[in-house]
Parts: sequence; C-alpha cells; structure tokens
Amino acid sequence: METKQENWPLLSFKEYEKDINPTPTYQRSSVWKPEQKQMLIDSILRKIDIPKIYLRETKKKDYQYEIIDGQQRMRAIWGFLKNDLSLSEEAEQILVKDKLFEVSEKLYKELDSSVVVERIHKYSLNIVIIYDATEDEIADLFYRLNNGTPLTPAEVRNAMPGEMKETIKTVAKHIFFEKVSFANRRFIYDQICAQMMMLELNNGLADTRDRTLSKMYSDYSKSVPTTAIKNIQNALDVLEKIFPEHSRLLNRAATINVYLLISYLLKNTKLTKDFYALFFDWYSQTEPERRKDNEYRLYMSSSSNSRSAIEGRFRILISALYQQFPKLGIIQLDQKRLFDEEQKMDIFARDKGVCQKCSKKVGERSWHADHKKPWIKGGKTILDNGELLCVKCNLQKKDKLW
Ligand SMILES: [Zn+2]
Repeated sequence: METKQENWPLLSFKEYEKDINPTPTYQRSSVWKPEQKQMLIDSILRKIDIPKIYLRETKKKDYQYEIIDGQQRMRAIWGFLKNDLSLSEEAEQILVKDKLFEVSEKLYKELDSSVVVERIHKYSLNIVIIYDATEDEIADLFYRLNNGTPLTPAEVRNAMPGEMKETIKTVAKHIFFEKVSFANRRFIYDQICAQMMMLELNNGLADTRDRTLSKMYSDYSKSVPTTAIKNIQNALDVLEKIFPEHSRLLNRAATINVYLLISYLLKNTKLTKDFYALFFDWYSQTEPERRKDNEYRLYMSSSSNSRSAIEGRFRILISALYQQFPKLGIIQLDQKRLFDEEQKMDIFARDKGVCQKCSKKVGERSWHADHKKPWIKGGKTILDNGELLCVKCNLQKKDKLW
C-alpha cells in the first residue's frame, strides 16, 4: 500500500464529483444531520482546518477514486457547492478584510463575492491518496480510521477483513431478503445473516448479540465451515418460496424465528412443496394472535438477540407448529414448556438449594429449573426430569437443537 498527500482546492471537488465513488462496499450510507453539514461549511468559511480526506485511487472505469474516509464531509461540500445546503440560521457574521458579512441561512450562490473569493476560492483540503492497496488493506485502514466514531456494530464488522465478512456479504444478497419488511440500512441484512450463521455454528441456540457476532468474525476470519453456509442457503431457499414479497410479518426478530424453525425442520424431516403453502397459512393466521401474548411479546422485544429470547420464541413456535402438524413431530414435545411455581418449589426443596452441577448453594430467587433431558429433545416438564442449576451452570449447558 502506497500513499501520497495532496492539497486540492475546495472548488475542484465539484469537478471531481463524477470521478469519486462515495459508497464503496466498506462505506456506510449518508448519516450526517443537516446541522452537522452546516457546521462543516461554517468551519470552512472561518478558515478552520478540517480533517484529511482519504481517497483510494482505483483502476476501475466508472470511478477514478473511492472515499475511504471523509464521505460525510464530501457530501456536505458537494451539497453546499450545488446550492442544496444553506448555512445555519445561527451562523455568525464573518469578518473578511475588516468587513462583516451576513451568512446566516445563505446558500453558496447568495454569499457576498468577497466571502466567496477569500474563503471558498482560497480554501484547500488535505487529501491522502492511497494506491496499490489490496481489499484487505483498505478494509483495515477504514476500520482504524473509524475507530472511536459511532459506527454501528454491523458497520464495524463490515470493515473487518476476512472470510466471515466475505461469506456474510454473499449470503446477505440472497433473494429471500426481497421478502422481508425492512430495508437494508446500515448493513442490517448482514447482521441478520451473521445471526443465522451464529445459530448454525452452535447447532441451534446461541447468543446473537453484537459482541458475540464480532467475535465470530475474528474467530472465523481464515475459514468458514461449508456445512454452515450450505445450511443457511438451504433454509433461505425454502423461506424464499414460502413468503410473499415485503411480507409485513417478517420484521427482524420474526425473520430469525422463521429461519430457525425452517432450519430445524430441514434437519429433522423432509419438507414438501405442499408444506410451504400450509406453513405460510398457519404462520400468517396464528402469528398476529401470538404477538398479543405477553410471554411471546417479551421474547420478541426485550433483548431479542439474546440466547434466552431466541430460545423462548422458538419453544412457543415449535409447540404451536407441532400442534398444527402432528406428523412433523418426530419428537413428542411436552405441551408444558416451563416448570410452574409449585414444581420449582418442589425442585428447590428436593435439591436442597444446591446447584446439581457445581454444588454451589444458591439464593431462593437466583437459580434455574433445568430440564435434565432437554425439552426440545422430548424431555418432560415433570419433577423427575427437573433439576436445580445455578444461573452460570445453566447458561453453560447448551441445548443443541440439532
Ligand atoms: Zn452451578
């Protein structure tokens, strides 16, 4: 990777606009508010230095440069030079050659010519041009330059070089995403795909919050298991056939729900084309009612990417599904998913308030009633199949779905 530094007159940016790609793949979309843009232009008019802009020289036909860092600043400058952006109402007068000029709410074309000549024509920007760089080097540079500015976790992951990032980017282009109800702002589809990947890598249930997803990106930067990729592709192929375009049912949490259901079924049974239609009818008819249920609602909303929320939703859905399609249920699930208060008191008394795994004594409210044989594997919600576990031991125990 080579770099050179140049000074470009501000006005030259206008001509360069067609040569610069402001949104290469590692970039985020425009997110500055008007006030931030106005502040930048105000700084320029007051001869205040603004941070360097990093451009990558490309050998591509359509664009001569890509913006690595400075997209928001360049968009603000372009907007201002094209008279799409005015200065703020609060902008103070500007002193040029011992004379004060009004700039509040003015467009570029409305500025006094002395301000334009002295402050715009004479202003130049520090540009760093990167050339002979690999994709990985660019992604790494982008990641470093943006450390400390508020990128979303999905954006940060998107700038992390490696196999996992590439895999997720490819998966996120699956046509299934034409069926969801939300747009791909700030790499949301990548985030959803990363969550699916996390579930596959853990055989069903996993924490899919941002911190764990980022760790997955670095853990699997060298290679990604092909079975996991294939599983995701298979499930998305089926989901794509099940749902109509822009389905209102498919918000973010619901997308993970149906994904997990179909992925689980694909591993346990054969799904026919007839089933796709039946599944959609069942899901679209029952889901609105389910979302009125307090327990389900809680799992859908509060910390919905946590392992326990995903598991809670899955349990409710799979129970309902097996009720509707009993033939699918190779495993007989107990209709009762959770131990009730009375059973919990009995378990606590029988196990003498001691974790059955690490023998630690627990407080009366800080323990979990665990199924010895997992509920999802057909374990019954009865006293004999219940045991007291401390919270830590219970979270360590992974109930694999497949
Ligand atoms: Zn324990």
